[in-house]
Amino acid sequence: MQFESDCALKPTMFYPRMLPPPLLSGTLYLVATPIGNLEDITLRAIRTLRECNLIAAEDTRRTKQLLKAHNISNKIVSCHQFNEAKRSQKILDLLENKQTIALVSDAGTPGISDPGERIISIVIKAGYRVESVPGACALTTALPASGLPTKEIHFVGFPPHKSGGRKKLMDSLTSVPGTICFYESPHRICKLLGELQSQWPESEVVLARELTKKFEQFLRGSPRELSEYYEERKPRGEFVVLVHRP
Ligand code: SAM
Repeated sequence: MQFESDCALKPTMFYPRMLPPPLLSGTLYLVATPIGNLEDITLRAIRTLRECNLIAAEDTRRTKQLLKAHNISNKIVSCHQFNEAKRSQKILDLLENKQTIALVSDAGTPGISDPGERIISIVIKAGYRVESVPGACALTTALPASGLPTKEIHFVGFPPHKSGGRKKLMDSLTSVPGTICFYESPHRICKLLGELQSQWPESEVVLARELTKKFEQFLRGSPRELSEYYEERKPRGEFVVLVHRP
């Protein structure tokens, strides 16, 4: 069994007039960044990005834009699915040398449906400290505004690309209770609506599109109604798909 040290007490919460504490050495900070609106970032996230020894970013160009918007200059390295083995080792070496590292994904919370998930697991297994700096996440942004029940949810993330895998997934979800939440690309949104139509034609579906951005939109209806909507339009942007079955 592994126990985490308790020294991550957040004094800012208890002593609001004191300066926030320095980052803890040898820690990987999971820093949530905006999913569209650049204002959706916490004070702690900004300070962590400013004060850490290194930022490991899924897309350095995107993170540089964010840093520029908040007047932060710091060292960045790329850390994505194609170099994660090499990068994980570098991150472990730096943590061993008591460095502080901020892990950021393209958008939202690192580790939720992105390559951060594997890096975080490697760091925890190697025995180093990991701390979340919470903030925006597409799932938690979409869910409350969907109006669907939030008491029990089942987050799927991205369904597989291949039809066989998708069918297997849909069948396995039949016995799962609660609101089902998917991430899906605009290229496959119509395919997913077709699958929902065959599996649960009576379900209520919410497409949460372009959250926090200029063209944010919530489309609500049955799978058939939403499929019809997209017969006349090309799906664009980023989607969270939420499904409530009767
Ligand atoms: N780590 C991210 C998070 O915290 O939500 C998710 C990363 S995943 C690679 C990207 C997917 O999240 C998109 O394909 C889409 O399904 C969803 N997503 C991200 N930003 C979104 C937005 N602004 N509006 C709707 N969905 C979004």
